Amino acid sequence: MSYSDNMFASLFDKQKANQFNIGNTNYKERVKKLKKLKHALEYTYKQDIRDALYADFKKPQLEVDLTEIYPVIDEIKFVSKNLKTWLKKQQVDTPLAMLGSSSYIINEPKGVCLIISPWNYPVNLTFGPLVSAIAGGNTVILKPSEMTPNTSSLMARIVADLFEENEIALVEGEVKTSKALLELPFNHIFFTGSPTVGKIVMRAASKHLTSVTLELGGKSPTIIDDSVDIDKVVGKIVYGKFMNAGQTCIAPDYVLIDERIKSKFIASFKNQIKTFYNENPESSESYSRIVNEKHFKRLLESLEDSKSRNSKIESGGHTNESENYIEPTLISDLDSKSQLMQEEIFGPVLPLKTYKTLEEAVGYINSKEKPLALYIYSKKKKNINYILDNTRAGTTCVNHNLLQYLNHNLPFGGSNNSGIGKSHGYFGFLEFTNQRSLLKQHTLGAVDLLKPPYTNWKQKIVDLTIKWF
Ligand code: NAD
Repeated sequence: MSYSDNMFASLFDKQKANQFNIGNTNYKERVKKLKKLKHALEYTYKQDIRDALYADFKKPQLEVDLTEIYPVIDEIKFVSKNLKTWLKKQQVDTPLAMLGSSSYIINEPKGVCLIISPWNYPVNLTFGPLVSAIAGGNTVILKPSEMTPNTSSLMARIVADLFEENEIALVEGEVKTSKALLELPFNHIFFTGSPTVGKIVMRAASKHLTSVTLELGGKSPTIIDDSVDIDKVVGKIVYGKFMNAGQTCIAPDYVLIDERIKSKFIASFKNQIKTFYNENPESSESYSRIVNEKHFKRLLESLEDSKSRNSKIESGGHTNESENYIEPTLISDLDSKSQLMQEEIFGPVLPLKTYKTLEEAVGYINSKEKPLALYIYSKKKKNINYILDNTRAGTTCVNHNLLQYLNHNLPFGGSNNSGIGKSHGYFGFLEFTNQRSLLKQHTLGAVDLLKPPYTNWKQKIVDLTIKWF
């Protein structure tokens, strides 16, 4: 079913009326729902998902399987294995001074939740958070991006096929739709997208004091020192950067390299591109397109801006407007005021910036907003620790990139400008639940002896309590 903007309030009310039915489901019932979703992604709709993403931006099938379908299935497996434990009422210690009571933490559902997702990994970033929301026992309205219309309308079909709308519904639409949804008093909003829109979401949420998870973006730096095996490192960076044509929130945004190995990096880069995508990446079936004309033009403008500032294209640089194609591009000698060094690139262009000392590299990173991901390539423990100790970031991977995203035992998310809150595994479950504290008193406790009137012997008990308990 498709929804018009004036239907959102009634959809919200239906979910609100149903929230205790959904919230009171046990772990078996929730796992059953998750398995239904898993089956749909793994079998019923697998080919449709591949087709939709190819139609949207020529995303290669293997990348769809690996980066859209697999992470959600893996999340479902992980959550299904652990949910029984996470939902157990957890007993915690009660201080001696409160003798006669017992204490617990209950992970109760937040209630009615809104998930707003971006276009770059539309299936993964819509259904991934949904897994955590279902695990938490919530009802959910999903709003995917309008920029991948084929995938969004397929996801609407999948959701309508699997769930009743008073439990989970998917609303398609543009910014106007998102804004109309943000007017409603959701109990939690999970937003993935840009820092600019993240601020709009947080402002809207503040009206109802709705809690938020903001999975945002920004510039993710990569530092390479002179101790590395350069071919191995470049291979990993080219893989991480040009997957999804660079449209990945945790892709290496730019490289900071020891100036003594700059030329080795450039030579190795050219070889790796040929190995991965042949002489002409435009004809490679392993390389995506830019999602739409708007983003293609944004990237083109950044390239023009850098050319006007005497930067040097070391490799790539070809474009084809009719296809929204941009060749994997390496660019050096960028001045720090260029758009490519100021804004998140979110495309297949990699700036290479040299440094003389690690202190200089770290100083540069710290002059910017806290990144979502920071990558370190080094064989020297001392250098790795120096960078870790003197920078801040949402996530870090040493001697590789992107992999930190795949371990569900690790929290995933940014810090300040790159995000608020975490996703994945237990951390994602916590975002969609309220840690409700419960204290049960069984017998008369010490505190009951301290009611007014406040006599001298009661004061003595308080003095002793402060001293000894
Ligand atoms: P975006 O912020 O433009 O849009 C995200 C969603 O917000 C879409 O559904 C869109 O319809 C909606 N939206 C856009 N403008 C809005 C407004 N004014 N009011 C309300 N809703 C609005 O982001 P995008 O272009 O889809 O995705 C790219 C950004 O997302 C990059 O910054 C990237 O780093 C980030 N990202 C972060 C993660 C992460 O996990 N941290 C993952 C993927 C992408």
